[in-house]
This record gives sequence, structure tokens and C-alpha cells, in this order.
Amino acid sequence: MNNLGTDVVVAGAGPTGLMLANELSLAGVDVVVLERLHERTGLSKALNLQPRTAEVLELRGLLSGAEERSFATVRDGHFAMIPVGYEGWDTRFPFQLGIPQAQVEEYLEERLATQGTKVIRGAEVIDFVQDKDSVSVRYRTDSGENVLYAKFLVGCDGARSVVRKGLGVDFPGVDGEGFGVVADVLFDRIPDGAQKQWRTMRNVGEPTGATTFKGLIPLGEPGLYRFVYGDRASRPADLRAAVSQDDVRRALLDSYGETATVSEIRWASQFSDAARQAEHYRVGRVLLAGDAAHIHFPAGGQGLNLGVQDAMNLGWKLAATVHGWAGDDLLDTYEAERHPVGAQVLHNVAAQLGLTPRSHSSRALRAVFADLAALPEVSKHLSGMVSGLGVRYPTHGTSHPALGSRLTDEDVATEDGPLRPSTLFRDGGFVLLTTTPAHIDAARAHAPSPRLTTQLVTSLPWPATEAVLYRPDGYACWTAPTR
Ligand SMILES: Cc1cc2nc3c(=O)[nH]c(=O)nc-3n(C[C@H](O)[C@H](O)[C@H](O)COP(=O)(O)OP(=O)(O)OC[C@H]3O[C@@H](n4cnc5c(N)ncnc54)[C@H](O)[C@@H]3O)c2cc1C
Repeated sequence: MNNLGTDVVVAGAGPTGLMLANELSLAGVDVVVLERLHERTGLSKALNLQPRTAEVLELRGLLSGAEERSFATVRDGHFAMIPVGYEGWDTRFPFQLGIPQAQVEEYLEERLATQGTKVIRGAEVIDFVQDKDSVSVRYRTDSGENVLYAKFLVGCDGARSVVRKGLGVDFPGVDGEGFGVVADVLFDRIPDGAQKQWRTMRNVGEPTGATTFKGLIPLGEPGLYRFVYGDRASRPADLRAAVSQDDVRRALLDSYGETATVSEIRWASQFSDAARQAEHYRVGRVLLAGDAAHIHFPAGGQGLNLGVQDAMNLGWKLAATVHGWAGDDLLDTYEAERHPVGAQVLHNVAAQLGLTPRSHSSRALRAVFADLAALPEVSKHLSGMVSGLGVRYPTHGTSHPALGSRLTDEDVATEDGPLRPSTLFRDGGFVLLTTTPAHIDAARAHAPSPRLTTQLVTSLPWPATEAVLYRPDGYACWTAPTR
């Protein structure tokens, strides 16, 4: 047994754990990431970054690197395969970035390494014990068992989270009744009507029967597609079983006939429509984030994005707690803010499944819903739910319109010319935009961190407002009225 010490142990180097570790490292927190796998699989479940994820990556200067690795820019999202656009949302990124999950992970891990934090691979968390001062985390490597002592442990260890189970936190929800398969297929001859480049969700997926569905997403390499199919009302006996090449070929034949010819099936995997959410995201010194805290059918492409946003919310709060800048109540706001957001995602996924055209009346309902979704206000509402742009955190006390809302990142006017506010968030601190230095001391009192960037601006986009303080994750948390 080895005794090592660190501030935070992150269990799991998926997108959530890597984003969180990046945030903690940026804030000067000593973090150790333990990952069960010896190597990244290179396989991608998720294929997209939603607009709100693009926004938070931009806050950290990470977006351009993600864009370099992306294979598509998609101008809309979807709700139950009904395209919904981002018109009406004031965002600089009204699109989804097509990027394989493996690329997101590789990129975040590279960035983490530049901050001096390495992922310890082949290190599987077995269990942990916490007391009022620390958590001891037992993990297994090829050379035996080790124990790591930390101030906090965060379970980012995915759907079957050992950390969640160790906490004994309930994971209520439904097992679901359907299944899906994802397969990356290289075609010699692509199916008739398939998009050559992924630009829109239109025609990407569709119901094929009362409960069955199919979809084809071009992956950037000529002839290479993500093929998705499944049934929302029945499932194979063993959802964890490997999907055979024959299964995928049969499904392709059923879906596209003989017009398509397949050169290679690179990988295939099954998934379920189970939906569960951990009752609590925090118990003492142990927290949960990402799929460890919530699972759902991948409708709308939300899971990875939800995990990254969990990490953005938790990172600065945990850092402030570790550094002793904030009391325990700040860390409690992680669950208070993120549990409802996770619940909303499970809710919208269930609603999407509810739009399955199972019967005469549900087909009519779906058609009416599609008409409604074409209305700008409805489309905005739906795309806001799925993209994360609609998230607004509740605030208490004052009711300024900026409070709880995200930085929309329009240029602000300064004496030196226009300035893009997102550039002020690179170091992960709080950001104050103010028309007068008189508010700086008050802002400091409201920021539970000495890391505060102050920017004098000549005007702000809200009437009768002289200052707005943003949290490190880009949500407004304090304002000063005109004196
Ligand atoms: C078919 C499919 C398609 C999807 N498509 C999309 C999409 O288009 N868009 C989207 O946003 N989301 C999508 N998702 C969801 C997305 O893939 C997940 O939400 C995302 O992977 C969650 O990231 P995570 O880091 O929380 O968990 P994971 O990615 O599961 O990572 C957990 C990590 O922890 C490690 N680990 C597990 N146990 C231990 C342990 N005991 N000790 C140490 N390490 C451990 C694992 O090896 C893994 O590396 C899809 C999911 C599926 C199944």
C-alpha cells in the first residue's frame, strides 16, 4: 500500500473527468485522475458539441482546438428527430460542432498534460472511505492495490459508477424498454439520399415504423457514416452483448435495401433507453458528475455536453472550497444547480421518446408537434432545452435580468475599443465588467475567490446597470445598479 496525498481525486477520464481535472488544475488545485483503462479506446459514442459547450470551451480558449478536430458544423439540433434551429438565441455559436467523443477526450487530456496533470491509466477505483477531513481512495493497478488520500473525490466514472454505488446514493428512474445500435460503417456505395456532409439534422434520422428508427450521419471521411438504428419498444435479451457484423449488415439491408454496399464495419455497440438520475450529487467529500450522476437515451445528443457543463459548474466551486476561499454552502450549490438541469434533460428525452409514432393518434400528435416546432418561439424553446443555451440558474434576492444568465459574449465597449468578454475568462477566475472602479471592492466581496479580472467598460447592455460580475463558468452572479 502506498500513501500519497492530493487535493482531489477524479475517478474516470471520460469527457466529464477530463474537463473537471482541467478546471481544477487551472485553479491551482492538485488533482489526480485515475482511469481504469490502460489506453483510450478511440471509440466515440458522442459526435457533437452543443452551442453552450462551444461557449464554455471558448471561455477557456479551448474552442479553436476543438474546431480543428471537428469534421462538421451543423446548423441545427433536433427534438425527437424534428430539426430545431438556434435562431433567437443570442450566441456566437449557433451550431453544433461535429466531433467524435474520442477526439474531445484526446484534446482535453492533452490540455490537461500542458497544465502538468497526467491521467494515471490502468488505475481502477475499487472503493473509498471518507471522514470529516479526507477521503481515502483504494484503487487497483497492475502492480497491486494503492490508497490515495484526498480532500475530495469526484466520481466521473460513468453510468456504472463505483463511486455512486459506494455512496449508496439512490439512482431512481426507469429501465426503459427499447434499444439502439450505433455502428461506424464505411460504404463502397452510400445509400440513396444520404447527406455527403453533415450540415443539418434534416433527413439525418427518421422513424421507420411504429417504434423503430434509423439514421445516417456522415463522419467526414469519404464513405464513412455513423449508422444508428433500433426499436423503442423491444430489445435483445442481452444489451451488453457484442453486436455482430451480420446484425449490422441485416439492419442496413432492411433500412436501405441493396442500393448501399458496405466495405467495412469499424465498430458497433448497443445502448438502452434506461433513464436514471442520482438522488444526490454530493455526500460529504464525495461528488458525482456526468454519466455517474445521470443516464438517458442519447436523443438530441446531450449526455457528453451535460457532463462537460457539470464539470464547469463544479470545478471552480470545488477549487474555492479546497483553497479555503469558500464555505461548504458554495459546494452544495453544485447539486442545487445541476440536479434540476439533469432532471430537465431526462424529462426532455422522455418527451422525445413520447413522440414515437406508435399509433394513429401518436402519429397525428407527432405531426402537430412538428408543425409547432417550426414556430420560432417553440423552436427556440426546444433548441434551448437540448443545447444547454436555455439553462439559467436561479438567484435569490434581487431580480436583475442578467442574474443567473449566461454570458452571451457580445463585444463590450472599452476605452481601447471593442473587447470580447470571453477572453477575460481564460484563467478560470471571476470577471467583473464595470463602468466605474467604485464597484471593484463590492465585487470582490461577492466573488469567493481572489482570482478576479476587472474590466472597465464604457457601457453595459443592461439599463441602469454599472457592473456585472460573472462566475468562472460564465453565469452572472452579481450586479450593481446605477448610483
Ligand atoms: C450510443 C451513444 C451515443 C451517444 N451520443 C451522444 C451524442 O451524440 N452527444 C452527446 O452529448 N452524448 C452522447 N452520448 C452520451 C455520452 O457518450 C456520455 O454522456 C458521455 O460519455 C459521458 O461522459 P462521462 O465522462 O461522464 O462518462 P464516460 O464517458 O462513461 O467516462 C467514464 C470513464 O470512467 C472510467 N471508469 C469507469 N469505472 C472506473 C473506475 N472504477 N475507476 C476508474 N475509472 C473508471 C471509464 O473507463 C471511462 O473512461 C451517447 C451515448 C451513447 C451510448
